[in-house]
Amino acid sequence: MPNSSTRLESPLLGEPYLLTPGPLTTSAKVKQAMLRDWGSWDSEFRALTLEMRTSLLELTGDTKGELDCVPMQGSGSFSVEAMLASFVPRDGKVLVLSNGAYGQRIAQTLVYLNRDHTVMDKGDYIPPRGDEVTAALEIDSSISHVVVVHCETSSGILNPVKEISDAVDACGRKLLVDSMSAFGAIPLDINEVNYVAMVSSANKCIEGVPGFGFIIAKKDELEAAKGRSHSLSLDIHAQWTHMNKTGQWRFTPPTHVMVAFVEALRAHKAEGGVAGRGGRYTKNRDVVVEGMRELGFETLLKDRWLSPIIVTFFCPAHKSFCFDKFYALLKAKGFIIYPGKLTVVASFRIGCIGHMDEHVMRKVVAAAKEALAEMGVDSAVPPEKALVERAKLAA
Ligand SMILES: *Cc1c(COP(=O)(O)O)cnc(C)c1O
Repeated sequence: MPNSSTRLESPLLGEPYLLTPGPLTTSAKVKQAMLRDWGSWDSEFRALTLEMRTSLLELTGDTKGELDCVPMQGSGSFSVEAMLASFVPRDGKVLVLSNGAYGQRIAQTLVYLNRDHTVMDKGDYIPPRGDEVTAALEIDSSISHVVVVHCETSSGILNPVKEISDAVDACGRKLLVDSMSAFGAIPLDINEVNYVAMVSSANKCIEGVPGFGFIIAKKDELEAAKGRSHSLSLDIHAQWTHMNKTGQWRFTPPTHVMVAFVEALRAHKAEGGVAGRGGRYTKNRDVVVEGMRELGFETLLKDRWLSPIIVTFFCPAHKSFCFDKFYALLKAKGFIIYPGKLTVVASFRIGCIGHMDEHVMRKVVAAAKEALAEMGVDSAVPPEKALVERAKLAA
């Protein structure tokens, strides 16, 4: 694990840092891995596919060999869709815990899949709690599955997945987790959070490039998924059985992306796995939150709910502040930030994930300070209504 004196190398000359939740800044080694062409049937490529699946399973805490890993072509949403279609029976019913854009997307996917569902809509960022889940399951015995987003990337909130898993277990239902933006940096131990399946993708905390996702699921659930999917290409059971039999992906794999991802997984391991990666991101977050607060910015979330993945800040109330200008000034200084997604007040987001460390985050804060000065904004304090909004969130 790098200590604070060793710096990670910078992006290539002239390339800005991506302070975004994936695609994100990747290392030179990951990029270099993409310079070679691979035959998808070749034994070396098959061995790399196996290494990838095995390395991912090592991050789950599964000591009994209950889980297996199935990669799936496409962006992360393809894997979410594949998971919902493969693990929820056609006569099942899903409780979607939604507190942001990704929860909403899950509900929308279930509409397309024609799966019965009900949405517990907590708005932009209020976390769903265990007791609420228990209450919802007790009044509706037809709910077979609960879906939760681990880190809701639209606000950056870290949802209480352990509490939710306990509630789902106690009611004898099944849990599916969208851990897209958390897996690899925030523990998701199968002995703690009892999911039947979870998904993540190549371009988030493992620090690969975009092109595929992966599903980690209980083997008995993978068996039971046979014939359930509405989609040929997204059929997880079919991909799983084919891969186990032949070592190959069912259809053309994103070869370069896969090989880069294996390189990223090796770096993840060398950094100390989930604890090492999560430690670096936590430091990134702490440095950027502290520095931005010193400038007068306020976070949407109270500390307890802040994830080490991405942080939402309110835009300053100052009349000279303009987000587009702020964005352009930061970009010129080498940092790409992310617009906010709140419906009530103006906000922006700064990602803490990717191949960067606390030294970079200090430069981000310095760049934000300069950008404010260049816009003639002498106070980054948010409008009163932002603080009123935030007060809705329990400590
Ligand atoms: C990134 C992400 C996804 C997938 O988004 P894609 O654009 O399809 O890759 C899904 N859920 C969460 C929480 C995410 O952060």
